[in-house]
This record gives sequence, C-alpha cells and structure tokens, in this order.
Amino acid sequence: MKVLVIGGAGYIGSHVVKSLLNAGHKVTVFDNLSSGREENLFSNAGFFKGDILDPIGLAKAFQADDFEAVIHLAAFKAAGESMLKPEKYSVNNITGTINILNTMCEYDVKRIVFSSSAAVFGEPVRLPIDEDHPKNPENYYGFTKLEIERFLEWYDKLKGIKFAALRYFNAAGYDIDGEISGLEQSPANLLPVIMEAAVGMREKLQIFGNDYDTPDGTGVRDYVHVTDLAAGHVLALEYITEKNESLTVNLGSESGLSVMELLEEARKISGKEIPAQIVGRRPGDPAKLVASSALAKEKLGWTARYSDCETLIRTSWNVYKDRLNNLFE
Ligand code: UDP
Repeated sequence: MKVLVIGGAGYIGSHVVKSLLNAGHKVTVFDNLSSGREENLFSNAGFFKGDILDPIGLAKAFQADDFEAVIHLAAFKAAGESMLKPEKYSVNNITGTINILNTMCEYDVKRIVFSSSAAVFGEPVRLPIDEDHPKNPENYYGFTKLEIERFLEWYDKLKGIKFAALRYFNAAGYDIDGEISGLEQSPANLLPVIMEAAVGMREKLQIFGNDYDTPDGTGVRDYVHVTDLAAGHVLALEYITEKNESLTVNLGSESGLSVMELLEEARKISGKEIPAQIVGRRPGDPAKLVASSALAKEKLGWTARYSDCETLIRTSWNVYKDRLNNLFE
C-alpha cells in the first residue's frame, strides 16, 4: 500500500516507517523536523519537509502519489506543557489534524491510523483500563487526543474515512535491531530521562513522589516497546483495509513497572550509578496505569513481545551508550 506517514521522522514515527517498509509498503514521510530528526529517515522511503499547519504544503505532498492511507503521528505530547500552553496544543494537535483530514477528503484518501493516547482516560476508576473505561482527561494533551478521536468518528460517518485510533500507553525502548538511533530532543518521559542521567547529559533523575499507594511508593505505568507499537500500526492498517471498518484500541503491555524498578534495571544494565533524587509528586500523575489490550489481541492478533523491563532498558541503553562514547571522544 502507498502510505504517507506524517510525523515519520520522530521517535515513534521512525519505528512505524521501518515496520511498514519491512511489511512491503511504499512509504513517504511528511515531517517538519521540529522534533523529528533527519537521521531517522530511511533511504528507501520518500520525504517531504512540511508542516501540518500549512495546507498548501500538505496538498503538495498528497499530490506526489496516490496515497491509499495516512498514518498521523505529528503532535506535541508533553502533558505538563499542555497545561501551561493549551494554545500550542490546540493549534498543532487539533487544527493540524483537521488540516490532514480535510486534505484527505480533497485527495480521496480513505484510511488513517492515528496516534491516540492513554491520556484520554485520566485518573483510572478501575484497572486494567479497557477501551470502555470512562474518558476524563486530566490534562489538555489528553483532551486534544479525545477530541480528535471524535472528529475521526464524524469523518467516518460523513466522508467514509476509516480510522484506527491507537491509544498508546507509555512508549519506550528503541528499535530491537538497533537500526534507529535518533535521540529525542529535551525528553520529559521517564526512560529517556533515566538514560540521559546515565550518560551525564543531565545531572540526575528526579523521582516524582515515593508516597503513592504502590509496592515501592513510586508511580507504576504500562511501558510498551516502540517496536511493538510499530507492529500495531501495520496490523491496524491491514485491519481497517480488509474489514473496511474503524477501530479504537489500547496498545499496552498489560503489566506495570514502577519508576524504581526501571531505575534499578537501568543501573544494572548500564553499570552506571545514575544519580536520582526523590522530589514531590508531579500534578496530575495517577499512582498506577495498566492497560487491558484484550481488544487489540482479539481484533488485530497483536500482543506486546518486547515490552519486558530488560528489553526496554537494554535497547535504550544500546543507543545512549554510543552517545556516552561520543561525549568522551
Ligand atoms: N517520572 C519521574 N521522573 C521524570 C519523569 C517521569 O519520576 O523525570 C515518573 C512519572 O511521575 C510517572 C512515570 O515516571 O510515574 C512515567 O512518566 P512519563 O512522563 O514518562 O509518562 P506519563 O505516564 O506521564 O505519560
């Protein structure tokens, strides 16, 4: 299939591109390289540099081929920042997605796979979290993802665009084959922060609270390996194409890891001390989030294969340890 991957130079996007290429799809990437990286581009995929806020640039990319599907991963994703700068998230995440959907209408592209998020659920009222769990986003970022899911439902009803909304839990790790190594810039997520502390790119890890109602007091999340997430996109695209029906599913590992567990495993695998300090809770952080991915298994035959603690850390360390070598060369 000819697929336009919007945000394909980013952390998750580059892994998705690799999985699509491996599955035999023809891929073109559209990315403004604001957080995506040129080094994440594949030589056997096309590339357009452009912004989803520029409908003319989008139209040019759509004119380049008879795309049969769009995968849309271009969004801001820092939950904390979204509470301080909702305008930025409204414009990029919501207006940007509307631009994409309208361009799809114009060029008659009928399939989209969209990066949604577990942030649509907010504070859990029951665990594990299945797709029917109440949706009460705790932050503006989660609100934008939920609103976009609702736009997708309307564009399906009114324009026949079939969608797969994939609610990622905590994406982590790096390409299982070690082929993708573009580091995220100024990351705020736990694992890259631990890695940056391990190689001295930052002074220490701040642990946001150790007084939660969890076994060791630190926050528990469902970390899902980015190679597993990427496989989910390919399966979802095949599903909406074959069944001609839309789909909203969770993608999680169904198991919880605490901040402390990840830190200890990272210390073990890296052999580094990794300085860490307990600080206060981060506002809006629930104690524990764990997915049910039963629906993804049932509909897509998807399960997480690489999302164990050791693989998450080892694949990340393989990328960051090279940075360590460069720092001291
Ligand atoms: N966390 C932390 N220090 C950091 C970043 C995150 O202690 O510098 C904790 C956070 O409180 C949560 C977990 O790590 O319990 C995962 O946070 P992240 O921001 O990676 O993802 P989120 O679950 O917020 O989407």
